[in-house]
Amino acid sequence: MHDKLRLETLAVHAGHEPETGDHGLAPAFKPATTFLRDADGGFAAGHQYARASNPTRARLENALALLEGGGEALCFSSGMAAVGAVFAQLAPGDHAIVSGDAYHGAIRFIDDWLKPRGIGVTYCDTSDTGNIERELQPKTRLLWLESPSNPELKITDLAAVAALAANRGILTACDATLATPVLQRTLDHGIDIVMHSSTKYLGGHSDLLGGVLATRDAELAAGLRAWQIDGGAVPSAFDCWLLLRSLATLPLRVKQHAESARRIAAWLTEQTAVEKVFYPGLAAHPGHETAKRQMRDFGGMVSFLFRGDEDATRAVASRTKIFQQATSLGGVESLIEHRASVEGAQRRSAHNLLRLSVGLEHADDLIADLSQALKE
Ligand code: PLP
Repeated sequence: MHDKLRLETLAVHAGHEPETGDHGLAPAFKPATTFLRDADGGFAAGHQYARASNPTRARLENALALLEGGGEALCFSSGMAAVGAVFAQLAPGDHAIVSGDAYHGAIRFIDDWLKPRGIGVTYCDTSDTGNIERELQPKTRLLWLESPSNPELKITDLAAVAALAANRGILTACDATLATPVLQRTLDHGIDIVMHSSTKYLGGHSDLLGGVLATRDAELAAGLRAWQIDGGAVPSAFDCWLLLRSLATLPLRVKQHAESARRIAAWLTEQTAVEKVFYPGLAAHPGHETAKRQMRDFGGMVSFLFRGDEDATRAVASRTKIFQQATSLGGVESLIEHRASVEGAQRRSAHNLLRLSVGLEHADDLIADLSQALKE
């Protein structure tokens, strides 16, 4: 039945089957870490020890798999734990090609922990599939994409990359945190693994940390599951319960985030204080046509270059009153960030780049806030 339902319906009902016993309509929060063994030694209810599985996480993983269009979903204690689980499938000597505009924390993880342990990594601009093809090596085992990317919102052609990897024994994985399953069914485009930091839009309220992987390949799922259990970076039952609750409103939230972001991006292009706007919904964005093909809408993140030096750019971020100056994204509240300041040694963003996570406040209020901050 589930495969016929639309995403909005699934988001409300998947993982929300009424409780057996008291028939509660809202899922119960089940913090037990260990479960009674039956007289015959088995575990009829399906759970033995919470690092391996628990009823609240099982509900959440079931819901997320359905939102991704089938297969299996695995939840982690953070987005980075999910990133690590994918790279843990590589062995020393293997080579990976990674989006140059990937989340800076993923790049730090790769540079500081993987490269010194014998994993070869090449960064390239994956928004041009030809770049990936040129960087392929006999030992290439993984293509790590991020689309839309962060913070330049570059778009990678997922189907073209999947076709390139097919028959070469190369795994494809995409961080789709900025898109969410609402805007991009990453696995439908032939990508093997989709990853989300559920700290962002999936959670949506800036009050939980989490990561998700989903795949339709059973063998791959088994390897990732083994790492999830043995690595142990699993989310608490409470965070799973909160995330499950958040999923019900995800389609509605994402729709509004995208609608307001579209308005704000268009408005920014008309401001003389703004040098350049990065938003895949703009016709001038180089990934616009691909985004139109592979996404339902363009998302709630907008970056722009301010006409000014680094100090003047930071000053804009400190003048906004509704946009809070903080890192992260995807929450109900709008955020503004001078990206280069948080990137540290992995600093790649231009000195005058500001990143907006457009929240659920009224778009007119947000535009008025940006207007006063740009003017002073
Ligand atoms: N991927 C993207 C696109 C992100 O923005 C982030 C966090 O900012 C992560 C991954 C890492 O997720 P987490 O902070 O939940 O570990």
